[in-house]
Formats: sequence, C-alpha cells, structure tokens
Amino acid sequence: MSARVPVGIVNAMTVDVEDYFQVSAFESHIDRGDWDKLPRRVEANIDRILALFDNHAVRATFFTLGWVAERHPEMVRRIVDAGHELGSHGYSHGRAHDQQPGEFQDDISRAKALLEDLSGCEVRGYRAPSFSVGPRNPWAFECIAKAGYRYTSSVYPIRHDHYGAPDSPRFSHEIRPGLMEVPVSTVRLMNTNLPAGGGGYFRLLPYAVSRWSVSRINRVDRRPAMFYFHPWEIDPAQPRVSGLSAKTRFRHYLNLDRTEARLTRLLRDFRWDRIDRVFLDGGRS
Ligand SMILES: [Zn+2]
Repeated sequence: MSARVPVGIVNAMTVDVEDYFQVSAFESHIDRGDWDKLPRRVEANIDRILALFDNHAVRATFFTLGWVAERHPEMVRRIVDAGHELGSHGYSHGRAHDQQPGEFQDDISRAKALLEDLSGCEVRGYRAPSFSVGPRNPWAFECIAKAGYRYTSSVYPIRHDHYGAPDSPRFSHEIRPGLMEVPVSTVRLMNTNLPAGGGGYFRLLPYAVSRWSVSRINRVDRRPAMFYFHPWEIDPAQPRVSGLSAKTRFRHYLNLDRTEARLTRLLRDFRWDRIDRVFLDGGRS
C-alpha cells in the first residue's frame, strides 16, 4: 500500500470504551453482579489504541462507560491528555429501551458527572448502548437533552436483529433545539441502508468493502463518515465466554486477530478527527 497522505473530507473516528464482558449479547450469560470478579482488559487495549491513533496523528471520540471510568481513572486522564474527546456511554450499559425514563435519566446523568469530574472537561456527547435510542423511544432524547448533552451518536439506521432504525436519517441532524444526532455511517444501495460505520461488519467483510463505503460517503454523498469500534475487537487473547449460541460466538470472536491491521489501513487511507470537531465546531451538520 502507498504511504500517501489522505486528502478530502475529515471523518469522525469513535471508540466505545467497555470491556469484553459488558457487551449486550453476553447479558444473559454474565451477571452484572459478577463484573467485578472478571479480569479486566480494557485499559491495556485502550493503551494500544492510543498508541495506534498517535502513530497516525488521529484524534477520536471515546464514549466511555461510567463503570469502567470509575475503575480506570488514570486511563480516562490519558485519553484526554492525548487530545481526544471524552464522551459518555452511560454508567451501567443497560439498553435505553429496557429502562424506565427515570432510571435512564439517572444512568446518563451519573455517567456525565463522573466523567467530567475525572477529566476536568465538559462531556458533550452520549452514545446509547447497542444503539438503543431511536424512533421507538423518543423520550430518551428528552432525557439526553435534560442531562445536558449537546449531541448523541446513538442511531444505526440499518435493519438488524438487535438494533437499528432503518428509516432514521442517515446523516447528522438536529433532534430538537440544542441536541444533535450523529448516526453511524451507512451506504445507500438499491433503496437499502447498508452498514458502513463499523461493528461486526468491519470484521466480517473484507477491508476493501469498508474502504469503498467510506470513500463513497465522502465522494458521492459529500459527507463525513462516522466509524466506531470497541477495545475488545483488537484483543484476540480475551477470555472466552462459555455457553454462547453459535451466532453470538461467531459475531463476537470473528477475525479479532485481523482488526488492528484493518484499523491501521483505515486510519492511513482516510482523514479522521473527533466528533465535536467534525460535526459541532464549524463542521457541517
Ligand atoms: Zn457498548
């Protein structure tokens, strides 16, 4: 591959900072009460990601789980000291649509206060676990605004068995005065939105598909792309969870040993920055 410096639109790179045992697909296999008994790998993985971003002079947005931040305050400070944006992934990783509005409100307000306390920075962005905010629960956007967030990045406008809102807008838009939604990127083909912003698809499909998708969003839609991944996706040595269905096992463990190399190519082939700089501060929205 060439070592050319990428040109063109600046895209948004994001990381959901949570550990391998906190993913929603493991909910019925790992009790929340047992989280503290499990070996944590998130901090070591985040350090690898910080080094990777630094090598490519990329700054990103880290949507960090309150539960993790509380146990790894130094990691939170390293993220901010390296010039990245700190965002919130809520406190306890419950899906918004599984909660009552009051419970959800408490969770996202607690996470914001905690992250701001640890970092000394305002936390403006929120991402719901498993993209669990959307047209099904418009009340959640009220809660997010009330908690003081300026934007959310909580909708993946695709059809998926666990999440997705295929009829939601594909690009950043104002949900209500003072609150913006920055959805995960999709490519529109044959009247269907196809995933183009990360998740299991990035590990499942060849890298060329991701490269083509981001380039199409930049060239054809003339918009920045929004990409996300998790620290556990670059960690092939993570402990294996037993008793999973074949589908869950496939989705979680597929190509973990290839993700870092693919990310390296993605960072090299396109320009990337934090969400606030791409979409909020002078970026088009
Ligand atoms: Zn998550």
